[in-house]
Amino acid sequence: MAVYAAAAAVLAGVESRQGSLKGLVYGSRFQNAKQLYALVCETQRYTAVLDAVISSAGLLRTEKKLRPHLAKVLVYELLLGRGFRGGGGKWKALLTRHQARLKAELARLKVQRGVSRNEDLLEVGSRPGPASQVPRFVRVNTLKTCSDDTIDYFKRQGFSYQGRASSLDDLRALKGKSFLLDPLLPELLVFPAQTDLHEHPLYQAGHLILQDKASCLPAMLLAPPPRSHVIDACAAPGNKTSHLAALLRNQGKIFAFDLDAKRLVSMATLLARAGVSCCELAEKDFLAVSPSDHRYRQVQYILLDPSCSGSGMLTRQLEEPRADTPSKERLHALAGFQKRALCHALTFPSLQRLVYSTCSICQEENEDVVQDALQQNPGTFRLVPALPSWPHRGLSTFPGAEHCLRASPETTLTGGFFIAVLERVEVPSSISQTKALVPGLIPSPVPKRKKRRRKPSTGPNTLPCK
Ligand code: SAM
Repeated sequence: MAVYAAAAAVLAGVESRQGSLKGLVYGSRFQNAKQLYALVCETQRYTAVLDAVISSAGLLRTEKKLRPHLAKVLVYELLLGRGFRGGGGKWKALLTRHQARLKAELARLKVQRGVSRNEDLLEVGSRPGPASQVPRFVRVNTLKTCSDDTIDYFKRQGFSYQGRASSLDDLRALKGKSFLLDPLLPELLVFPAQTDLHEHPLYQAGHLILQDKASCLPAMLLAPPPRSHVIDACAAPGNKTSHLAALLRNQGKIFAFDLDAKRLVSMATLLARAGVSCCELAEKDFLAVSPSDHRYRQVQYILLDPSCSGSGMLTRQLEEPRADTPSKERLHALAGFQKRALCHALTFPSLQRLVYSTCSICQEENEDVVQDALQQNPGTFRLVPALPSWPHRGLSTFPGAEHCLRASPETTLTGGFFIAVLERVEVPSSISQTKALVPGLIPSPVPKRKKRRRKPSTGPNTLPCK
């Protein structure tokens, strides 16, 4: 019976925005997380149907002690699921009393809507869409192992290795216990969409990081060489930080900042499990980190992955297909913080390359933020044409925006994502010598901006992304 109570608690938590569905399931300590996750997802998918049936059967009016979320899970199991597991106890007896009425209400709903299958009662947005076809990407943590050893391990477990994929079609065709190497990222394994590796020993030991392909691109494109100094400005829960550490081979330094103490605690666990030893974690507002502090004088690389609306997140598309798009006010507030954070990052004196990324699909948080930063820093930074063969580009809202990358389930078989790579414009030495002779001929590397009063700097409605 505990599974029904646990599922009801997760549904209540999602509704009151205590966390994502997956986060609450895995944080619930329920032993069989896979079973719990499947039950909650299915109940959630049929939520409108269940609400209608429960209401027209008058279940909550008659059974006053039955809480709405538990009622929803139980009615799902009775009418649409596999029937009560493990006997069903007192709830089975209670629901059985209402079974005939509930079944009749479900049948009536189908007649009303002119459909015969339960699945056809789902609203279009709740039917399996492109997000459910996105493969399970698994990054091999090269701080602990290598792709060859990992591939051998899976082969010994009965998985069939299909080699390196040559196209997205190879990824789409994956099924059963087969897997591939991604065509673009050398350390990324690709499994069929429904593969769950949360309980896998290699994941538990930090040899594997479960990370969507789009979210692996920022560190890959920043590409800091070993021994360099890097800032990860909004770092928790730390998947990208651990990727950066792997690229640095733990040699060099990552200064990782985040405002959220709880997320920093999970981040510390994640980094320890992944064997990261080159990272200094700080609970700090990135906007309050001083670019003139001598500790950051060698920082040539910055990753900025700020709080965003999360409108491209796969979990959101799968778990809350009917979630509203972010309001204008919320987007405005988020974009304000993102613009301030990006402009602040560009003032670090040794900065050479910066990657800006979000898991949002909204122009306000993406192209508009990058355009604003370029306008504020004329002639100092330029957009790098990232991954020219990547099929999905930035929206053409300003000249050069196509150098940015976008990602989506439909076009790249990933979550919705945005990435821009900015690089400091090199001043040819002949000009810089002339400049020394003729001051004011070219703009100084980092033009001073007018000091503005800063609003509270935290990203509003911080989202637990990725
Ligand atoms: N890069 C992370 C990863 O890959 O695991 C995900 C980062 S998440 C999109 C954004 C993070 O920014 C949140 O953890 C949030 O707490 C943090 N944040 C928001 N405002 C901040 C600020 N002013 N300074 C530092 N971190 C901030």
